[in-house]
Amino acid sequence: MIRVAAVHPETIAAELGLTAGTELLAVNGQALGDFLDWEFLTAEESFLLHVRQPDGEEIEFDIERPLGEPMGVELEPPSIRRCANRCDFCFVDGLPDGLRDVLYIRDDDYRLSFRYGNFATLTNLKPHDTQRIVDYRLSPLYVSVHATDPVARRYLLRNPTAPAIIPQLRGFADHGIEFHTQIVLSPGVNDGSVLEQTLGDLYAFGTAILDCSVVPVGLTEFSKHHLVREPTATECQAAITLVEARARIARRERGISWAFGADELYLRAGVELPASVHYDGFDQVENGVGAVRWLQQQIAQEGLRFGEWSGKRIGVVTGTAMAQLMPMVLEPLSEQSGSRFELMPVVNTLFGASVTTAGLLPGVAVQQALRARADLDFALLPGEALNDDGLFIDGMSLELLQASVPLDLRPSKHFSDALSLSTVV
Ligand code: SF4
Repeated sequence: MIRVAAVHPETIAAELGLTAGTELLAVNGQALGDFLDWEFLTAEESFLLHVRQPDGEEIEFDIERPLGEPMGVELEPPSIRRCANRCDFCFVDGLPDGLRDVLYIRDDDYRLSFRYGNFATLTNLKPHDTQRIVDYRLSPLYVSVHATDPVARRYLLRNPTAPAIIPQLRGFADHGIEFHTQIVLSPGVNDGSVLEQTLGDLYAFGTAILDCSVVPVGLTEFSKHHLVREPTATECQAAITLVEARARIARRERGISWAFGADELYLRAGVELPASVHYDGFDQVENGVGAVRWLQQQIAQEGLRFGEWSGKRIGVVTGTAMAQLMPMVLEPLSEQSGSRFELMPVVNTLFGASVTTAGLLPGVAVQQALRARADLDFALLPGEALNDDGLFIDGMSLELLQASVPLDLRPSKHFSDALSLSTVV
């Protein structure tokens, strides 16, 4: 059973009288377990929908609709599939106490991998899940491989029963499933020859593995530092050498780069980022792979309407990592727009200064940075620091932040989205 969270007006669901709280029980007699069942079983033009209304009345609707017309329901969030691993570098272990409960959930959910591009390890799949991935053709999936050597992978995941990843992926690939893969680089465990082998194995697997990124382990001051550490600059350089060697082979043989280092890997190594063309379709930009080049490309492609910014003083709030790279974006933008940008790197007061990504900035730290900045016309906030409910990781809402600072705020992921906002928050 799945439950309706909201119904959009003037849609099929509204006409049927579905409301928030309606339970969606079955389609064509097949019980509904989650949003995937709902999406796939209602994809036809006609079907029988069995529901239970909030007053307890059960109704079966005989639905006919033009193909592609949405039903108009929003579903309650699915219960998250819990992780079967205990990685030493787990983000959850690096959280301080006192945050929202949902942040402490170790999720490892193939459904969210398919829907939102969350990386999953596939170590908690039951036979039913495996069959669904094939039947519903959930492709591409985003898979945390870390190492193809089963012993190394089990060590990294702290899961002695994790299945060997190559045969597992092969079973899916034989049914047409494709994968984006990542390797979280843990120095002394899956770098060096293990990394070389992993990249080689994944590439040799064939074209069902669409790409592979290498992301350095990121820790907070609360992480298990006695068990895991972040890679040094030299170790990051060595990883880049292996990644770029694999990318050269891929470009020669397949015409794509295939292997990528995360921006963070280049930053830590002190090595210049590859050019935009290196990143193929920027398929792992949400994973911090090519984010700076993507930003530059977005700015160039969008044709920003600079009139609105001309002569303005604009604060650009970011984490300390991107602060090193943002000048290469802001300087040309300033010349084009006639605006004055002030880069505002904010130290992470929640996780410690070693956490440099903008996406984990707490609202309180941003508030402190902006509290006395009435001299700015407005400030751009990193959009990735806010969840879908407009909350920072520390639970502060954008509305609360806006009410507590003397300037206008615009969440933005790539500048042009802030420009196109007609209203300031
Ligand atoms: S797979 Fe590892 S990092 Fe991811 S949630 Fe599980 S324990 Fe944490």
